[in-house]
Amino acid sequence: MADDKFYMKQALAEAERAADRGEVPVGAVVVCRDRIIARAHNLTETLNDVTAHAEMQAITAAANALGAKYLNDCTLYVTVEPCVMCAGAIAWAQTGRLVFGASDEKRGYQRYAPESLHPKTVVVSGILADECAGLMKEFFKKRR
Ligand SMILES: [Zn+2]
Repeated sequence: MADDKFYMKQALAEAERAADRGEVPVGAVVVCRDRIIARAHNLTETLNDVTAHAEMQAITAAANALGAKYLNDCTLYVTVEPCVMCAGAIAWAQTGRLVFGASDEKRGYQRYAPESLHPKTVVVSGILADECAGLMKEFFKKRR
């Protein structure tokens, strides 16, 4: 739990980096055996690519760091509940653990595809949820 908060703070730092460049502030880190092997944030505007969500970037970077495609021994931390696309990618990567901060009632996988994760993936939610949601609210308030 203490570790989850620590790593979620790292994901939040990534989300802030996204906000700084005008991206929707979602950040992610991948941790393998107490080491951060990937840090990423949403890049959909920068890359002009709707698939460039933080989780997608993080999974690709983690697989590169490991030199292997499966993330069974890893925990993916992400500030906001993954969407259906990312939940699918998290499943394909056979991610060991998924920890997310804020829930996303509009786009989150839990509403549309609650069975989409790999059956062995352990899910923890609500870590630093207020901070994670706060960044999103602040960002969309500024954009209006
Ligand atoms: Zn996504």
